[in-house]
Amino acid sequence: MKSTMMDVPLLIPEIVERARHFFAEREIVSLMVAGRGEDGQPTAKLHRTTYGEVAERALRLASAITAAGVGPGERVATLAVNSYRHLEAYLGVPSSGAVLHTLNIRLHPHQLCWIINHAEDKVLLIENLFADKIPTILENCPSIEKIVVLGPLPKPMDGVEDYDTWIMNHAPQSRYPEMLETDAAGMCYTSGTTGNPKAVTYSHRSTLLHSLASAPKDALNVGQSDAVLPIVPMFHVNAWGLPYTCSLYGAKLVFAGAFSDGPSLAKLMQDEQVTITAGVPTIWMGLLAELDRAAEAGKPYQLQLERLVVGGSAAPEALIRAFSERHHLKLAQAWGMTETHPLGTVSITPPGIKFASDDGYALAAKQGVAVPTVQLEILDDEGNILPHDGKSMGRLITRGPWIAGSYYGGAGQDNFLEINGQQWFDTGDIATLDGRGFMQIQDRAKDLIKSGGEWISSVDLENALMAHPAVSQAAVIAMPDPKWDERPLAVLVLRQGHDHPGHAELTAFLSPRFAKWWLPDAYEVVAAIPIGATGKFLKRELREQFAEKTAEGTAVR
Ligand code: AMP
Repeated sequence: MKSTMMDVPLLIPEIVERARHFFAEREIVSLMVAGRGEDGQPTAKLHRTTYGEVAERALRLASAITAAGVGPGERVATLAVNSYRHLEAYLGVPSSGAVLHTLNIRLHPHQLCWIINHAEDKVLLIENLFADKIPTILENCPSIEKIVVLGPLPKPMDGVEDYDTWIMNHAPQSRYPEMLETDAAGMCYTSGTTGNPKAVTYSHRSTLLHSLASAPKDALNVGQSDAVLPIVPMFHVNAWGLPYTCSLYGAKLVFAGAFSDGPSLAKLMQDEQVTITAGVPTIWMGLLAELDRAAEAGKPYQLQLERLVVGGSAAPEALIRAFSERHHLKLAQAWGMTETHPLGTVSITPPGIKFASDDGYALAAKQGVAVPTVQLEILDDEGNILPHDGKSMGRLITRGPWIAGSYYGGAGQDNFLEINGQQWFDTGDIATLDGRGFMQIQDRAKDLIKSGGEWISSVDLENALMAHPAVSQAAVIAMPDPKWDERPLAVLVLRQGHDHPGHAELTAFLSPRFAKWWLPDAYEVVAAIPIGATGKFLKRELREQFAEKTAEGTAVR
């Protein structure tokens, strides 16, 4: 029997309309770059606006996009830091029927142009801080028809518009175009394990469901009375969905823009009475150092923080303990990925266990329990589902209403599988699941290194290194790093008759092709790289070999 309930589409305009009418006075605060100090470092100023103003400007942006000839489903890209203008793009681009494509500001220009061309972006909204990239983009990205600069331009540039002037020349869009809830609303690229980056496209429906599911207490704990500071960049899986979740529920949003150092963040949290914040472990290490410093100086920060969400990489138990024991602050670990929108699991202390206890910290160091409607399983190498006993380790697979069912353009089909007629996504993480549903990541099957929340492709580095005349084989592995979580270490086999080219030469050799933070911290020479039955490098063995070496102090740097 069919139900008698309405079939109302779940669309991003619902978020815009709530923000505009119910939370019009609620504040949005952004730390913006005011200029440069004598030391060349950016100086900050605060910008204050409201959901009412942002929603109105977002609808002006929607009109401007349509007037620029961007049709339904066509892509509008952003290359921007976290700020109210980026939020306007989040709300305005999908409201016009176009797709918001958030570009990663840390990519090398080659990668950036490859992604823009692959997505066939038509309009680019670019932060004035990155204006130096405009000539390269114009030269190499033929699909780009219009470049609009967010914030004042240092000097006028041909064919480039000023965002504020552009949107204010258009009246707010008065009617939303026809759209289906399954239409794409957002697009994000993720580093490919092999080869080129792959994109997922989020639908209106998946975005709305993800926002609804992110707010509850046992998820990210976001409500109207909160002030939320997403430190995770808005180009990383929509800042974990927080701009949409906060707009839907009316939480005050605080953006740190280009400032992610401990002192700037601590001050912003104190001044804006931030209650919820989210970022990768590297960010929390910086914040912890600043909180420790202030406390030792006898001037502790007065913070209202209820929850610091940590994800993107594993949060070490020591970090969770340090925040709790030294500052009475709770880190809540979450796991997810670009393909999962990203919210997959959150580690919440179950009743009967105290967070500030050995058991509590041990659970908080796990990645947590799946949020409602997300399912997790682990598989052995033959594809059998393994028991949830907290011991069996296997490939983590997931399914749910906001999990990708394919990549844009049909790439990476190996990542999707069918079990008993159901579609699942293979995360490339190796995990355990226990009887209470707690998932714990044990390793990563995908050949990538995560440094400060950003991916480095070991395969790309290996291919580049093997083009060096002295190198016959190269394997790049992730080594644990206290500051960046992981850093690349290159293990090389040299060609006969060649000496180690040295750190400086190899760095110079790789530099033209890779961003600086991609370059290996060290280059170690071995007689042979261990190879498995399928002919692949056994990187787990190499990691163990070099972990021992590092521990022995015959360090590799
Ligand atoms: P991304 O697509 O850039 O968001 O990266 C997703 C990947 O980051 C996951 O597949 C994991 O390998 C890793 N990751 C995310 N959150 C966590 C976490 N809490 N603990 C360990 N690894 C994580």
